[in-house]
Amino acid sequence: MKNSIEIKNVSKKYPGFALKNINFCVPEGTIVGLIGENGAGKTTTIKALLNIISSLGDIQVLGKNIRKHEKEIKQDIGVVLDNSFLSEYLTTKKLNTIMKDFYNNWDEKKYMYYIKEFQLPENQLIKEFSSGMKMKLKIAIAISHHPKLLILDEPTSGLDPIVRNEILEIFRKYIEEDETRAILISSHITSDLEHISDYIVLIDKGEIKLDKATTELLENYGIVKCSKEDFEKIKIEDYISYRAGKYQYEVLVADKYEFRRKYDISVIDRPTIEDIMLFYIKGGKA
Ligand code: ATP
Repeated sequence: MKNSIEIKNVSKKYPGFALKNINFCVPEGTIVGLIGENGAGKTTTIKALLNIISSLGDIQVLGKNIRKHEKEIKQDIGVVLDNSFLSEYLTTKKLNTIMKDFYNNWDEKKYMYYIKEFQLPENQLIKEFSSGMKMKLKIAIAISHHPKLLILDEPTSGLDPIVRNEILEIFRKYIEEDETRAILISSHITSDLEHISDYIVLIDKGEIKLDKATTELLENYGIVKCSKEDFEKIKIEDYISYRAGKYQYEVLVADKYEFRRKYDISVIDRPTIEDIMLFYIKGGKA
């Protein structure tokens, strides 16, 4: 399988924050969810990947070095950035003429189809749009030139659950239409990504803490619930981290089946991606 994105040893230093040796891939045909707390480095990673900010390390997008082939690569990708700005004094119709000049592959029919599908008005100024409408418009722009890859920074933040679901459905369809496509999507709403991502990459304080298939996280990982005495019997190499509650210990393990074979502890819950994120970020290790 080819990789649509390959990031190797990417670093970036700001005063007070650093991305440290970031490594991960987005394989063709997959959706990769980049998760992390506010300020963890998701946007900085995406900006480095798009060559919007300078960084160290190797970045390949669609098989090419982004620093050498930026213009060419950008014709083939669709991007939604967190705080990206659309001129408030344009209409969806006017944007169509602007985009036609910008993208060689701009598909006016496809764009108009999305405008209709998303129920966006053609002649109303963007400044009168709600935040959900603005996001849908940004997505329509990002996918109407048949991109091979979508890079989406927080495309669902600030939107209500119904609009979020509609948007996630668009991404799912986009991938299904062509198996060589791929999506990198960041969010701190982990439940959104749990349902659509094939892989989860967790970034914390500028470092990748976890990079795993979503099914493995949901099916194999487990949260062991036990007493302090039982917790003290668990060997350090058999768990990832623990959280001490008032009445019990919760312990994240990477393979609940293996854990069951080794220990006589019967309560093991299935974690959500949010649980796993919390254990990696806030959990302790004895
Ligand atoms: P959020 O979910 O809040 O968008 P994030 O994971 O996307 O968070 P980043 O926007 O990547 O986080 O920010 C990571 C850190 O880098 C923050 O501490 C931020 O203050 C810092 N940072 C970002 N841009 C700059 C800059 N231009 N100059 C200095 N520091 C910056």
